[in-house]
Amino acid sequence: MSKGTVFVVSGPSGSGKDTILTEVFKKRKDIFFSISSITRDMRPGEVQDGKYHFISKAEFEKGLENEEFLEYNKYLENYYGTPKAPVEEHIKVGDDVVIEVDVNGAKAIKEKLPEAVLIFIMPPSFEVLLNRLSRRGTETQEQIKGRMEAALKEIAVANMYDYIVINDDLSVAVDDLLAIMRGCRLKLKKQINIIDEVLKNA
Ligand code: ADP
Ligand code: 5GP
Repeated sequence: MSKGTVFVVSGPSGSGKDTILTEVFKKRKDIFFSISSITRDMRPGEVQDGKYHFISKAEFEKGLENEEFLEYNKYLENYYGTPKAPVEEHIKVGDDVVIEVDVNGAKAIKEKLPEAVLIFIMPPSFEVLLNRLSRRGTETQEQIKGRMEAALKEIAVANMYDYIVINDDLSVAVDDLLAIMRGCRLKLKKQINIIDEVLKNA
């Protein structure tokens, strides 16, 4: 059996990662979403083990000591990390895995797993990004300013990604992400066994 593919999805806050991935997961129930362990407080509407697994700093630091993370980062005094075991278990049995991380996390994962496929979700413009972040209403004006500044830095390093998905029309962006995932499944090395199988029965 061939191993599954790791898809790393990044993009500025407000670029539409969650919206696109929610639609993708409705259509592809066979893909595993990597739940990050994080130490910040839960926001209204968030649930344990939805997108994140909320743990204490002490628990996270114990995990770091035990090398339980594929990668991790510290923002504003909080840790964010990708648990290594579930990712390894799923790719081993052939499942594809989606990991949503920032640009630093994407770089670290590519170094550890060179076959990972890096996908950047790009807003159609800076103006649209600002409008969407403002309309989402989950951040203060000050936080939006910080996220727009971070977006500039993130977009500047998007050239390290394998694919860019422009999130203008949502259904096109969802189809594009599904197409990338389907294309990866069709690669020779993912289907190498079929050659012998067909020849065997010729
Ligand atoms: P992220 O997960 O990257 O921070 P979200 O998925 O929360 O971004 O999207 C940010 C906001 O933009 C949300 O309010 C969402 O409903 C909206 N949005 C996402 N994609 C589109 C799109 N293609 N067209 C219009 N609005 C969108
Ligand atoms: P938020 O606190 O807004 O949910 O996330 C802040 C940032 O952390 C986002 O850019 C998000 O993509 C990133 N992030 C979420 N999980 C992980 C993770 O496991 N590792 C890293 N490096 N970043 C993460």
